[in-house]
Amino acid sequence: MNPSRIACFVLTASLAAQTGYPSKFSAGLPERGEVKSAIAYIDAHFDRQVKEWIRITEIPAPSGQESERAAYVKAEFEKAGLQPAIDPSGNVAARRKGSGGGPTLVFAAHMDTVFPRSTSVRVTKRENGTLHAPGVGDNSASVANLLQALRAIQAANLRTRGDIVFLATVQEEAGLKGMYAWLERNKGATGLLVALDGSLGPVRYGALGIYWSRMKFTAPGAHTNRSRGAPNPVRAAAQCITGIYTIPLPEPGAPVQAIYNAGGMMSAGEIVNAVPREVTFTVDLRTVDKELLGSLDDAIVSKCEQAAQAQGVTFTREWIMKSAAGGRPEDLAGRRGHPIVQTAVDVLRYLKFDLPKGHEAEPDGSTDANAGVVNGIPSISTGRCIGEGQHTLGEWADIESARIGAKQIVLLAAALTEPE
Ligand SMILES: [Zn+2]
Repeated sequence: MNPSRIACFVLTASLAAQTGYPSKFSAGLPERGEVKSAIAYIDAHFDRQVKEWIRITEIPAPSGQESERAAYVKAEFEKAGLQPAIDPSGNVAARRKGSGGGPTLVFAAHMDTVFPRSTSVRVTKRENGTLHAPGVGDNSASVANLLQALRAIQAANLRTRGDIVFLATVQEEAGLKGMYAWLERNKGATGLLVALDGSLGPVRYGALGIYWSRMKFTAPGAHTNRSRGAPNPVRAAAQCITGIYTIPLPEPGAPVQAIYNAGGMMSAGEIVNAVPREVTFTVDLRTVDKELLGSLDDAIVSKCEQAAQAQGVTFTREWIMKSAAGGRPEDLAGRRGHPIVQTAVDVLRYLKFDLPKGHEAEPDGSTDANAGVVNGIPSISTGRCIGEGQHTLGEWADIESARIGAKQIVLLAAALTEPE
């Protein structure tokens, strides 16, 4: 065989392997009576879904202050016929019993937003089929999708073998705290985890590791007149940040990427005529590769220590958030083969969502699903709608796409609660 024939053969073989991923979705599934009627429910009540979506968006829910939104979700779970409870973290959970014999499937949507209470979260603009408000996509759309899917499942009396847990989590934006706490409190209770978060697009089955640190440099401080040669936290921070940006990252196009951002938040003195006593800046470091995450973090800390020593100041690091990495793509090869991944891909295809070719499923993710991935639970995250500008005041979401967001939950519920 000449080399081009070999390449062609390899390509054909790998395509065959790709289409061979196991799936719980079948063409017959959406034709099942109750599945069909649950899907029809979403269509028939879409206006209500959008109305509720706006309502949820307008309930302020900064991380750690989700109680008002949680109370709303709990009341709606109750109205839908479940018996929800709010746990000590503030998560709202409700179980819908299956007939038995299937895995317990957890659908999780985080309730919190990154916006402080002072931010107006009113949906001020609705035009050309879009909604505009901080948090309208991330993650109010998922909370609305989850509630509507639950109503559809109940109205249609959807038969499932496994139980379904409907879970609205807190503090996802602060390091997946609610999800980690829920898994800790409910050890062994989750068979499969689907986090509802992110834009509609690839199904994500890995975990992007994220380290958020606050680097702090301190010294006694000095009046400008007496500052010559005095230990200077500002110079240390400046030297340190310059140093951090010399730490090499993987080449663009390398299979595993990493990124850091030093100084996203900074604090220093308050007056012109003094060397401040304390200077801080944050570092946001991200990669899916556990070892690389560790080695880059070590390199960053060592730049801080060197700068502190050179400037005669004290250095300390405070953790803001530490979210573990799920592993390199090759470590997750087995995960791609779990039916939870291909089922979600097939469901989106069935709903005519155009997944990026060759990137239908990606071994990364930075959602509540990460907590499942690092705990060894088959976990994915799948999107809520199309939109842009998450974590900014200019966030917007496409209304119609949330119909797919809600329908996929119904189809996943039907498909994934069947026994292996
Ligand atoms: Zn989110």
